[in-house]
Amino acid sequence: MNAACRAHWVAAAPLRHGPAAGRRHDSSAAALSSKACRPAQLRQSSHSRYLVRRLGPPGGRAVALDAAFPFDREAKMKKQHTQQLKLRIGIVGFGTFGQFLAQRMVKAGHEVIATNRSPCFEAAEAMGVRFYTDANDFCEEHPEVVLLSTSILSLEKVLGALPVQRLKRSTLFVDVLSVKEFPKRLLLRELPQEVDILCTHPMFGPDSGKGSWAGLNLQFDRVRIGQDEERQRRCDAFLAFYEREGCEMVEMSCEQHDQLAASTQFITHTVGRMLGAMQLAPTPIDTKGFQSLLSLVDNTANDSFELYYGLFMYNQNSTEVLDRLEKAFDEVKARLLRQLHDKVRQQIFYGQSDDTQMLPAANRISASTEDTAQAAAPSAVATADKPGGGNGSGKRGSGTKHAKHAAPVTSAVESA
Ligand code: NAP
Repeated sequence: MNAACRAHWVAAAPLRHGPAAGRRHDSSAAALSSKACRPAQLRQSSHSRYLVRRLGPPGGRAVALDAAFPFDREAKMKKQHTQQLKLRIGIVGFGTFGQFLAQRMVKAGHEVIATNRSPCFEAAEAMGVRFYTDANDFCEEHPEVVLLSTSILSLEKVLGALPVQRLKRSTLFVDVLSVKEFPKRLLLRELPQEVDILCTHPMFGPDSGKGSWAGLNLQFDRVRIGQDEERQRRCDAFLAFYEREGCEMVEMSCEQHDQLAASTQFITHTVGRMLGAMQLAPTPIDTKGFQSLLSLVDNTANDSFELYYGLFMYNQNSTEVLDRLEKAFDEVKARLLRQLHDKVRQQIFYGQSDDTQMLPAANRISASTEDTAQAAAPSAVATADKPGGGNGSGKRGSGTKHAKHAAPVTSAVESA
């Protein structure tokens, strides 16, 4: 093989890593002065770009390395970078969700310690977490990040009892509460000025996040992060944990989160709980739609009622959403009953065949209820089709003033 055919591979240090990379590249270039040199080619690796020079025709065998082997350096830099992402995280509130997060954090290489109202030594040990019953001991371990994962209802009390003065002054406080404006206000009010605050809401739980977190949403709001590089780095490193798990990172204010969460998450939990109360069960003829209802029940039933109550009580937008849900139910029901009433009216005025006899007995009975009278009342008919319409009171069974309309309808159904 002649010299021109010899291939010299010069894998320079990553180009974006500054002067060192430049130096190595230059010294290597000296060895490549042969006219037979092919133009430099840029090769993209998963981590960085390398300058690759080749002598001889494409496909020539690499027989010499002209520069110090660079992978060592890259491996070192990668290790250093990974090291920078590792944090000492202290979890306050080691319940269902705290443990769920801890497990992943340990797997991701973070050092995790925890404290909780009731002792959890075994669960903690099983996942490689150091557990402290005494909050003083916990704080004296100086976690870089304090992750608040207590119930919404107990946050104020738990925070008040935490000996914050034993922590390092610039500790980063992160909460994971499912409502956001409340913890934001509370943390801003209660924590000393020098403490950093990041509000987050992982929009998934132990059921929906059982497997991969890829594509699951993580809302966050950098409420108060000190300007210096180290504090910014620490906050980024914490967020990188979710990013590396594949989460969709959604930066959004706590206020906007609560507005959206009331008509998404709170509705999901409410409907899940309503269906759960109906004790629905699988049947041999389930449709896909029904199966999704059952999985909605599964996804919500395992969360504590306290959590659900927190979603309602600590989100200012929840009451309005609950009212809208009730109204929507009334409208749908009124429309069904109005259709039934129209059939009866046809029969009264035009003597058409009585197909109410085809209905199951239960439906015939319900057709004679006050709800039917309410649905049949002209005002209900006029407003039910309008968005936000209905009987105006937003309450079911409040149509007593229409009771006099009920008489002919009832007797018509009964006499039919
Ligand atoms: P949770 O019922 O909301 O909270 C349970 C935790 O709060 C336990 O550590 C519990 O301690 C502690 N706690 C309750 N009352 C307390 C009190 N009076 N004093 C001190 N500690 C008290 O259930 P969770 O699912 O674990 O949720 C924790 C947090 O994560 C909540 O803020 C929730 O909004 C948020 N989150 C949950 C999910 C989810 O899917 N579960 C998803 C995203 C965010 P003990 O063990 O001693 O009872």
